[in-house]
Amino acid sequence: MVITAKSDTAREIAHLSATVGAQHPVFFQIGEVYKALVGLRAGTRPGAVPVSVKVGYEGGGEKTATVQLRVASRLFPTQHLRISPSKAGLMEAGLLERERILLYSHLTSTRAQPLWKGKFLVPASGRNTSSFGRRRYVNGKWWGQHSGADIACSAGTRVVADNDGVVVLAEKLKMRGNTIVIDHGFNLFTLYNHLSGIQVREGESVKKGQVVGRVGATGFVTGPHLHWEIRVGVIPVNPWSWTKSEVPL
Ligand SMILES: [Zn+2]
Repeated sequence: MVITAKSDTAREIAHLSATVGAQHPVFFQIGEVYKALVGLRAGTRPGAVPVSVKVGYEGGGEKTATVQLRVASRLFPTQHLRISPSKAGLMEAGLLERERILLYSHLTSTRAQPLWKGKFLVPASGRNTSSFGRRRYVNGKWWGQHSGADIACSAGTRVVADNDGVVVLAEKLKMRGNTIVIDHGFNLFTLYNHLSGIQVREGESVKKGQVVGRVGATGFVTGPHLHWEIRVGVIPVNPWSWTKSEVPL
């Protein structure tokens, strides 16, 4: 979803904030208007989600607009995974939490301009083996909803940047394995996990289609595949949607 805010008077906007449920979208100025991307978690309960936008004007005065979003229900399939005892040691809560904190620290600042152009590429050619939002159990225990897409292909397959951006993380993590995070600006990020090799450095600008790494089986996996995510801030959204149509900014 995109929230667009513009002044309906001659007065300039001095500050702007919004809430969508418990989220606080980040606004960026494009010409005369302000825009924010918003994603909702796959686990969002169906029903009403309040969206509230508050504007403060130069020289005083405020205005708040509130609308209700209707979130429709959608059934995500369930998947049971078996992980070998050697990898099951990675299912430790403290490790998960530390990796989440590290990841989030790279998803909280972004370039103020949208760097991406047009639709996103599927970053590796292979079979789509686990769609976004799947409800997963690992060794019989609830694990969570799948935060990305899994593309199964042989180790060594080229992984390309799905769009233009700047590499903000390129390192080996325990769960996610060799990981790349690209900031596409405007609070939009893509993640590439379980790589066998990383071919870019943090701070490097990349172009859509540029090879950034190779498919592997590093981290918490059952075999070689690319786990690929698109996130609005920290919220994972369905990556396939972004390959089919352009983001209407
Ligand atoms: Zn995955």
